Amino acid sequence: MPQREIRKTKVPVRQRPVEERMQDFHEVELLYTPEEAREEASRCLQCKNPPCVEDCPVHIRIPDFIRALAEQKTAEAIRIILEDNPLPSVCGRVCPQEVQCQKRCTMGRIGDPIQIGKLERFVGDTTQKPSVQRQKRNKRVAVVGSGPASLTCAGELARLGYEIVVFEALHERGGVLLYGIPEFRLPKEILAREIAYLSELGVQWQTNVLVGRSISFEELREQFDAIFLGTGAGLPKYLHIPGENLRDVYSANEFLTRINLMKSYRFGEYDTPLKVNGDVVVIGGGNVAMDAARSALRMGANSVTVVYRRTRDEMPARVEEIAHAEEEGVRFVFLALPLRIEGDEQGRVKRIVCQRARLGELDEKGRRCFIPIEGDEFVLPASLVINAIGLDTNRILLESIAGLKLDVKGHVVVDESLHTSLEGVFAGGDVVLGAATVILAAGHGKQAAHSIHKYLSE
Ligand code: FAD
Ligand code: SF4
Ligand code: SF4
Repeated sequence: MPQREIRKTKVPVRQRPVEERMQDFHEVELLYTPEEAREEASRCLQCKNPPCVEDCPVHIRIPDFIRALAEQKTAEAIRIILEDNPLPSVCGRVCPQEVQCQKRCTMGRIGDPIQIGKLERFVGDTTQKPSVQRQKRNKRVAVVGSGPASLTCAGELARLGYEIVVFEALHERGGVLLYGIPEFRLPKEILAREIAYLSELGVQWQTNVLVGRSISFEELREQFDAIFLGTGAGLPKYLHIPGENLRDVYSANEFLTRINLMKSYRFGEYDTPLKVNGDVVVIGGGNVAMDAARSALRMGANSVTVVYRRTRDEMPARVEEIAHAEEEGVRFVFLALPLRIEGDEQGRVKRIVCQRARLGELDEKGRRCFIPIEGDEFVLPASLVINAIGLDTNRILLESIAGLKLDVKGHVVVDESLHTSLEGVFAGGDVVLGAATVILAAGHGKQAAHSIHKYLSE
């Protein structure tokens, strides 16, 4: 039989042109057409020992779903993905595939790796999720928070037949997927669809409920047979520099929440104003910094400069997001850290003074550390500064839960089954890992659901 010729280069995904996308918050990358998706899927070599599966944190059966897609069996493809990941449309968009499933893809040795995330997104966006027959169980589980860890845990337990109530402090569901990641990367409609599927599975929701304030943790323990804590890491780390308290110095979380949740870009129709019209400086080098920078440009900034203390190679942001930010006009200043923010008599930000740095040895995370260069300072004009240097767990709230063990960083301590120090209380996602990724949070949610099932079946 003649050997089939395999296309070495990826099928490119179409993007909206820069001039067009800067006018709105709509998604930048378009979906593969069915023909494009099949063509990309047909490049997969169907490896016997697929490294892609090993490198996906939830070990989706990647070659199997891709084969089903290539054979136009999309119902089969979604069934395979949902075995391991309930949020395909979300993860297909936001996972850092280049350091996960696509990193060691065998096709990458002779050409471009298979675009696994884009294929997963295609299946998630275009295929109806199957309905599930539930065997009802007479046990109730409370899920605290509604980010990817909680959504996954709730969905998995609902499938297993438990009565699930999700408690969310905000008025809408989704956690960072909703208030952090902007529409141009993850449309809210896509998230709403994933959440609607959980409602179909029987998950109940209570929004505007801050557990620990609106309802005590003890009350929850009395009312439910088990609890999952997925409260994330939403507390900004401070810069600890002079001028940090000036007007127009925002944490990235507040800046993005005003845009994503309170729709400040539609001020007038919505109540929350956000004035962005001068030079914006964003401090940080992760996804949060890229989201803040790209959002600031869309909100009307004259210029946006990202100040990062290491080099581009060490930036934790997804490669694709850095590329999109550059295309859109975001400027980068590497090897620099902020020293102080200076303002005028009215307390308005005027400039930021930075110090240059150089790279040193590898740190405990395997990244090269930065060494500030004494006396080497420079000034950037700024009318708005956004702090995107990182996030912590809300220690005050967690410490108010009697008997809940935390580590020195304020993360909840769990055993290998994600059971906390409190009987019947499990935890997962950022509240355990510190600020991590969507798929690691979802993976934890799934693992915790199975641990809770085991615990309640004993
Ligand atoms: P969260 O998503 O933080 O959800 C926690 C939820 O709990 C929140 O809704 C919060 O309101 C609620 N809550 C907290 N306390 C209480 C309480 N006491 N009572 C009731 N509810 C409570 N990861 C990626 O993989 N790719 C990306 O591209 C990416 N981009 C990001 C961009 C931004 C701007 C941010 C901030 C993060 C990004 N991340 C990304 C990280 C990722 O979003 C998180 O790792 C993930 O959302 C963590 O999920 P979680 O379920 O643990 O918590
Ligand atoms: Fe890749 Fe993320 Fe999908 Fe896993 S969940 S296959 S890492 S895109
Ligand atoms: Fe296909 Fe790449 Fe996975 Fe091999 S490693 S099965 S080529 S996606």
